[in-house]
Amino acid sequence: FQINMGQLQLDEELGKGNYGTVKKVLHRPTNVYMAMKEIQLELSPAKLDGIIMELDILHRAVAPEIVEFYGAFTIESCVYYCMEYMDAGSLDKVLGIKTTAQGGGWEGELGEGAPEDVLGRIASKMVRGLKFLKDNLQIMHRDVKPTNVLVNRKGEIKLCDFGVSGQLDNSIAKTNIGCQTYFAPERIQGTTTGTDVQEAFNTYTVSSDVWSLGLSIIEIAMGRYPYPPETYSNVFAQLQAIVHGEPPVLPEVKEKTEGDPFEVHFSEEARDWVRCCLIKDPTRRATYAELLEHPFLVADAEREVNMIAWVAGALGRREVQAQMRAQSLAVINEPVS
Ligand code: ADP
Repeated sequence: FQINMGQLQLDEELGKGNYGTVKKVLHRPTNVYMAMKEIQLELSPAKLDGIIMELDILHRAVAPEIVEFYGAFTIESCVYYCMEYMDAGSLDKVLGIKTTAQGGGWEGELGEGAPEDVLGRIASKMVRGLKFLKDNLQIMHRDVKPTNVLVNRKGEIKLCDFGVSGQLDNSIAKTNIGCQTYFAPERIQGTTTGTDVQEAFNTYTVSSDVWSLGLSIIEIAMGRYPYPPETYSNVFAQLQAIVHGEPPVLPEVKEKTEGDPFEVHFSEEARDWVRCCLIKDPTRRATYAELLEHPFLVADAEREVNMIAWVAGALGRREVQAQMRAQSLAVINEPVS
């Protein structure tokens, strides 16, 4: 069946991305809550129809590690995209990671990291999701990052926002690569010298997603993006570091921080797994099959991880932080007599 706006009852706003707003909606005919993403595009009706047709392939993207697609429609120059509602939100929010992309984020807080068993489970789900897209739909993700990993209170981890529509990808502004890029070195090379950033992008392949995966896993482990803004004060310096510097590594220990009460140790297996993702030469970088066979993910497959408890705990800590933030704001705003 086809979804249309008349069937949807608007609920709260779930977040703002670079390209549009995501709202929770109730699909009345089925009584299913969905997440509806609105993407504003300045395109002709024919081009918009082309995008809707291209998105149709998403009906085949059915896997436990992929956010389910329910349908898309257009109204005037907007594309509305309906998907499975994930009630814990994106991983960066679950971890309380401050995102510096315009639109999102809050000030002054480092996120918390994930312990090794949770990290392994997340890594395993991400690899399986990416491998599914490649093997079954012959597509690469193109935008692997913690914001595009969604979580629910059942403890499920699923990927969203992958590039199925060339038309859509071309239409949303790619010129803004943001303050935090997950792009692999081979994808960036050349971009910093050209005047037209989009033109200057290099060709890249599925192994570029593996780099972004490795970077995301460090961020999830540490509760912060691996090229921190204090060190790389501008986008140019950050891109230089990605292309010319040594790749980031997963350290042996993550210390406690203000936003994170836990000290976490990472095994040599976990650290080596990340190293295999972050090999700068894309031809030598690990494949999905190799990543699944690596001791880090073999260990994951052999152990039980209570993801439900972890999600509940992390959301509880975010709740407490939000209350403390609200209280300190209230104190600041208190009138002085
Ligand atoms: P971006 O464009 O930066 O990737 P999105 O527009 O995809 O971000 O999403 C913005 C925010 O909306 C996300 O950070 C997430 O918290 C929330 N969100 C997106 N999709 C869903 C979903 N299916 N279920 C619940 N929350 C979602």
